[in-house]
Amino acid sequence: MRLLTIPVALALSALCTAYPQPLRQANNNVQGQQITFDSQHHPASHYNANNDNNGYARFDDQQVLRVEVSSMEELKKLETTVEDKNLDLWSNLRIGTVDVRIPSSEIDAFKAAIPFPSTVMIPNLQDLVPDQAPALNIQPASSWNYTDNSFWENYHDLATLNNFTESMVQQFPDLVTRTSMGFTHEGREVFGMTIHGSKKRQQMEALEELVEEVEELLEEASSWWSWMFDSASSSSSSKPKELKKPSEPKKHPKAIVIHGGQHAREWIGPAVVTYIAKELILGYGSNKKITRLVDQFEFTIVPVLNVDGYAYTWEHNRMWRKNRQPTSIPFCPGIDPNRNWGYKFATGGSSGNPCSDAYHGSEAFIAKEPKMIADYILKKENVVSYIDFHSYSQLWMTPFGADCSNIPKDDEDIMEAGMGAAKALKDVHGKKFAVGSVCKIIYQASGGSLDWTYAEGGVKYSYAVELRDTGRHGFMLPEDEIIPSSEETLAGVLHLANFIRKREKQWRY
Ligand SMILES: [Zn+2]
Repeated sequence: MRLLTIPVALALSALCTAYPQPLRQANNNVQGQQITFDSQHHPASHYNANNDNNGYARFDDQQVLRVEVSSMEELKKLETTVEDKNLDLWSNLRIGTVDVRIPSSEIDAFKAAIPFPSTVMIPNLQDLVPDQAPALNIQPASSWNYTDNSFWENYHDLATLNNFTESMVQQFPDLVTRTSMGFTHEGREVFGMTIHGSKKRQQMEALEELVEEVEELLEEASSWWSWMFDSASSSSSSKPKELKKPSEPKKHPKAIVIHGGQHAREWIGPAVVTYIAKELILGYGSNKKITRLVDQFEFTIVPVLNVDGYAYTWEHNRMWRKNRQPTSIPFCPGIDPNRNWGYKFATGGSSGNPCSDAYHGSEAFIAKEPKMIADYILKKENVVSYIDFHSYSQLWMTPFGADCSNIPKDDEDIMEAGMGAAKALKDVHGKKFAVGSVCKIIYQASGGSLDWTYAEGGVKYSYAVELRDTGRHGFMLPEDEIIPSSEETLAGVLHLANFIRKREKQWRY
């Protein structure tokens, strides 16, 4: 087996962003060591662009501070300070509490600028971050057994998660189809699984053909009718075209699209999403509720959307959030994919500064990851629900985030389904999730996924979910919380699918 050898040194381009501090420190600790990667799992091409980023970033003496914000004026002040000082927001900006990561050298200046009440959530972040790249300690993928919960006792690197997906496709060919979304800037493939009951699939395909034939015949008959009786009338041609409505997906079967990992450091997302896939696959045929849902819906599940960023968190910087596409500033790579979706792009709650962690990119959909999911949804024409898993804060969020004066026309159903999902989730381990629009429960954020999927993608039940916890560990959620977090989230997703099945009877086969 050929091994790719990488010298460990100071990572220049990781200095680039909102994280000048950690990499200055990384230089003191790991310079001169060697890291080896299995070239089968980590093709050399992944390292070409940024080979100076070889250290694993350190966060000595960095704090995560919880700031209490009590007015819009204070919130604006905090937003400006975070932007000016290029600090790392851990939670969303809102009136209430906001978590910010601050290097020790900046704490006094920060407190002088923001003299609001605050508490230290994490006194020394480095206590929670591995000293070496976790990519170094990977158990060979072949040794995993995906049929019990042991796989979910740990977080896994991209290669291992990809191996999980490939294994599901190979082991359950009648139930699981490999679904490729596209390729990223660094050349990695984004892919996942489409899970759907095979028996129904065949019946559905036959039925769909029949329906199409009947529709064609009806269309033909109607055009003859119009030609015969309406040709003299001009009123029909001036009738305004009906706009696309989110509640009318065109094709069967109806699809539910789920992904994690739009933000790289939110490791619990991909872990929970793979667990949901496993439960749907293994539960098919043995669990009545799951069987019924998998027969009715196509579940398209992509464990990691921002694969370049995710790999970067395993190999270089645990706190990386964005993707790895170049920007106009060479030492500040990365676009925040969840500020780059094309509905009311760059209209507030995102940044035009390429060095910011919330950088929205130079134009909508210039980031490859949101573009590929948007294209997939438009092409499918059958997506009825979309869930984008993030962490942390325990929120089940609905549209809109960009347009706070607007309420979705389907708000009642979207909220009812979301509240039911949060209740089902809470019934498992008692964790409370707040439900509401991004605007209401956090703050304005434009370019987010759920706004686009609802308003442009025609997906009625569009959500963004912030998983565990509420800030005790934040992005460093301990591994023993993966299984309980997965169990409760599965209950929420199953409730949601069941709600749609019952509420939207017109969408059934
Ligand atoms: Zn996120």
